[in-house]
Amino acid sequence: MSRIIYVNGHYRRYGEAGVHVEDRGLQFADSVYEVIEIYNTQLIDPTRHLDRLERSMNELSISPPMSRSALSHIIEQTVRRNRVHNGIVYLQVTRGTAPRDFPINGKDLSPTLICIARATSRSARDSIAAKGISVVTVPDIRWGRCDIKTVMLLPAVLAKSSAHQAGASEAWLVDTDGWITEGASSNAWILNQDNELQTRSLSHALLPGITRQTLIEVAGKTGIRVVEQAFNAEQAYTAKEAFNTSASATIMPVVRIDEQSIGSGTPGPITQKLRQVFHHHAERIPASARPAKY
Ligand code: PMP
Repeated sequence: MSRIIYVNGHYRRYGEAGVHVEDRGLQFADSVYEVIEIYNTQLIDPTRHLDRLERSMNELSISPPMSRSALSHIIEQTVRRNRVHNGIVYLQVTRGTAPRDFPINGKDLSPTLICIARATSRSARDSIAAKGISVVTVPDIRWGRCDIKTVMLLPAVLAKSSAHQAGASEAWLVDTDGWITEGASSNAWILNQDNELQTRSLSHALLPGITRQTLIEVAGKTGIRVVEQAFNAEQAYTAKEAFNTSASATIMPVVRIDEQSIGSGTPGPITQKLRQVFHHHAERIPASARPAKY
């Protein structure tokens, strides 16, 4: 559990950190967020994550709470105060607090900024990846701007919960035409019959994953062809390999989709190779350059 959380200018103990009850993030999910991996005390791809945060704010006309360098300082402080070596940084920016009223026009609000740094177990994640995970397909019931990383996550909560009830770890979301959009909290990939990595092309229907973007470059450097094209469940069932990408799990092998074993039923060699080399190719910035002061 995190011990110190940054909220609006203050570093608070976990149990004492809070936002106003009329924060629009709480009442309307009027809020955007980012998750950045901390790997061996380094932030992975922070530039791309902060670029995406800026884009999300911009798309929704949420004012940036501060400059990028001030935000980077808060990230560094939060990581340092919690002494996180491996884990995640979670950032959330809400539009701010105002008496509950739907329209945003004409309101000049101060955004709320929350920063949490949490340790997670790398070895636990590695042992899950060594076996691979199961996913189930469920209907994609989300809104029309899934390219914006908002906290409007109830469909993902429900999809993940039904996956867990079915003994799986992730849900792959299927659109009304039968195409897989992405995972509930990851991008979905297969290695198709032509030995190409295949993942859906970007649009308003899915999140432009940072791990997805970096992996496309990594694949290029490793000589693996990538096609950005949607696939359906049938194509996934007969894929040679499958995996998910996300900042919190990087590349997570998928060995079962619904009732179907994928490939040999164990993590595929290409997936494993990409998982091994991913961090080496990604941008890595020390998360906390100086020792913590208490
Ligand atoms: N799609 C969705 C819906 C997600 O929630 C996430 C993780 N936040 C991703 C894709 C993966 O994105 P990233 O690689 O930037 O973590």
